[in-house]
Amino acid sequence: MLVSGASFAGLATAYWLNRLGYSVTIVETANELRRGGTPVDIEGETIDILTRMGLVDAVHAKALPPRGFEFKDADDAALGSIGSGADPAANERYEIHRDDLLDILFDTLSDQIDVLFSQSIDQLDEGSDLVSVTFNNGDRRDYALVFGCDGNRSNTRKLAFGDGDQFTYFMGGYFFLKVVPQIGLLPANKSQVFSVPGRMAMLNGYDDRTDIGFGFRTDGEIDYDYRDRAQQRRLIHDHFHALGWKVPAMLACADGDDDFYFDRLNQIRMPCWLRGRVALVGDAGYCVSPLAGFGGSMAIIGAGRLADALERHPGDYAAAFRQYEVGLRPFVEEVQERAATTGLAMMLPADEIELAERDRRLATGEIDF
Ligand SMILES: Cc1cc2nc3c(=O)[nH]c(=O)nc-3n(C[C@H](O)[C@H](O)[C@H](O)COP(=O)(O)OP(=O)(O)OC[C@H]3O[C@@H](n4cnc5c(N)ncnc54)[C@H](O)[C@@H]3O)c2cc1C
Repeated sequence: MLVSGASFAGLATAYWLNRLGYSVTIVETANELRRGGTPVDIEGETIDILTRMGLVDAVHAKALPPRGFEFKDADDAALGSIGSGADPAANERYEIHRDDLLDILFDTLSDQIDVLFSQSIDQLDEGSDLVSVTFNNGDRRDYALVFGCDGNRSNTRKLAFGDGDQFTYFMGGYFFLKVVPQIGLLPANKSQVFSVPGRMAMLNGYDDRTDIGFGFRTDGEIDYDYRDRAQQRRLIHDHFHALGWKVPAMLACADGDDDFYFDRLNQIRMPCWLRGRVALVGDAGYCVSPLAGFGGSMAIIGAGRLADALERHPGDYAAAFRQYEVGLRPFVEEVQERAATTGLAMMLPADEIELAERDRRLATGEIDF
């Protein structure tokens, strides 16, 4: 079995395939696990799956304290808040550093599978019994099944299903996130959001770190070079230089170095995540967007559901794949719909009317986000 991508979807899929007795290889384009980024939410079915993986205690031991979420106006007055101050031990929802979760998953299986870093798939040729895979170093090997777990801009999706962008649902904006050391811009274990029409600035304070986040709406996709980090920083300055609140200090932090996350706000919406002996898991097949706050959990749920289906249909991968897709799709669509409607309107109101409506709902406490 071949898995492309060594992040949450890929590592969790590899874990289950290995446990079901298959021989597994992961191919990862980076030269090590790709680290960084904001903490990952662990909740609901993810907790059940991590329990079945025997990892829930290790994950829980690294849980971050609960974080309150406040919406602020330009004078730093609170408009309203969401999130509880509950004890994480009693709470069925908590966060963990992205890197801690990667390490926990990787450490549990790295000596039981082959992991090929700095490699990716160049070509997939499906025969009746096997998929013949050509790697970027020219090697060629046959696999019974191939799992595309290679994220929002999935290479496997492109190779097996055609041009990646036909499945991209652009949500009308861009998102920047940089993690910096604690810089005293907000109290511990708080998130704060400041919005004006079409733009939002966000701070997350946790542990010894602060996330500097910016989101902005655009009419269509903008033309930028994803390798040109200076250009991406300029885009943030262009959209935010005139704003008050804590934005000037945040912009100064954003300028530090090139280690940040910048991407369009998008979802992956496909009519089917399966093609022959190839299946997609996580962001590759059904990215829910950062606005859902659920990408890591969804990847782990996807891998768990796939494993259940393979276990239920031994020797019949086609039936297993169908069960995986039919069972998971309604949940994916519900999460995507919520992110594209309530999530977007809450975090990044498009205009004065949407902003006023959000603030009214915050003031009255009628938020179901
Ligand atoms: C470094 C990083 C930082 C992130 N930070 C944030 C954040 O701050 N906020 C947020 O909301 N979301 C962030 N995300 C996205 C979020 O982690 C995902 O939504 C979620 O983890 C879904 O997991 P996934 O495994 O499906 O995809 P991802 O976590 O995106 O993992 C995909 C993996 O596939 C690998 N890959 C890509 N192309 C190839 C290829 N051609 N061949 C082999 N491997 C390939 C990547 O290197 C990566 O390891 C980040 C993702 C990454 C990789």
